[in-house]
Amino acid sequence: MTHTKGAIATTSSHSAFYNIIPGALEEGLEAYAICFDRDWALWSQYPKLLEKIHVIRVKHYNDAEKIVGAFNSIEEDVIIVPHGSFVRYLPVKHLKQLTHPIFGGIKILGYEGDRDKNAALLQESNILTPRIFKKPAEIDRPVMAKLHGAEGGKGYFIAANKTEFLAKSKDKQIDFIQEYVNGVSIYAHYFSSPLYNRCELLGFDRRLESNANSQFLPPFIPPTFTVVGNVPIVVRESLVPEFLRMGQNFAAKTGLVGPFCLETIVTPDLKIYVFEFSGRIVAGTTVWVPFGNTYANTLWGEPMYMGKRIAREIKEAFKRDKIANIIVDSPNLEEL
Ligand code: ATP
Repeated sequence: MTHTKGAIATTSSHSAFYNIIPGALEEGLEAYAICFDRDWALWSQYPKLLEKIHVIRVKHYNDAEKIVGAFNSIEEDVIIVPHGSFVRYLPVKHLKQLTHPIFGGIKILGYEGDRDKNAALLQESNILTPRIFKKPAEIDRPVMAKLHGAEGGKGYFIAANKTEFLAKSKDKQIDFIQEYVNGVSIYAHYFSSPLYNRCELLGFDRRLESNANSQFLPPFIPPTFTVVGNVPIVVRESLVPEFLRMGQNFAAKTGLVGPFCLETIVTPDLKIYVFEFSGRIVAGTTVWVPFGNTYANTLWGEPMYMGKRIAREIKEAFKRDKIANIIVDSPNLEEL
């Protein structure tokens, strides 16, 4: 394989295989993927894609030492592209041991994983957020209880008031109590670009959560929020400028580079509450591969999706000799 335009490396995941890597290949970048045994049965179904990339096999996704070793064994100059599961199994300590630079740095990933820091950063960005209750005694309205270490909404519950919260939280390790915002959830996808000097609003998705989004939820079944998929959406016209403003504020406040997502609930009176951010590519952007979407394509005048957008920035950085600009570690955030 030959290449002249740069190279990326990442680990196996849904976003990596169906979004980041196709984007890199479309932009003519070399791609390295660390594939865990867990994922090999699926990956091996795609020989046409595999023959275009370098695969490094690692037995277990929980083996942070081995993952670091595998990344550090890559001899070519690569930019490491993080994604959701990557952040879960590579703690900050290990991220710091990587010898290749990480696209967008690591501080934003650390802030994302800490619920208090996550919420504080949104508030400091002048973004409307649900209230947080430090102690159950303070609860004065419906709340959503988030369980420690929950992924994709697993095990969350809603309580109408303090009494219901106390009853439902028995024997559970609740680490976050947030005001319950009634409305429709919308996930806004952004890309903060140092090379084009702008924050791009690239699209929106909505998660399908079971059983909150079931065909029909009988009143005797409590809703649960386990993510099972994503669907694309376009939003109501009047909401677009506010979504753009929020993304621009967040990018300016943090100084972050690359993809991020504001996870929102839009209320019946059209207020946009952001209950969390993700500081990297999110699963919902994969719905746009390979055709792009309304917002991204209008901005770029060509089919554009998140994996391709990341690759475009990396390709440009290699071409213009500006790698330092895309590996900047959110200068406005504190060290981890
Ligand atoms: P991930 O880490 O994959 O983003 P998570 O475990 O952090 O997931 P959240 O994204 O915080 O879970 O929430 C899961 C779902 O719960 C959301 O998609 C949304 O539907 C709902 N939800 C979260 N917070 C609130 C809130 N404050 N009010 C109403 N609904 C909420």
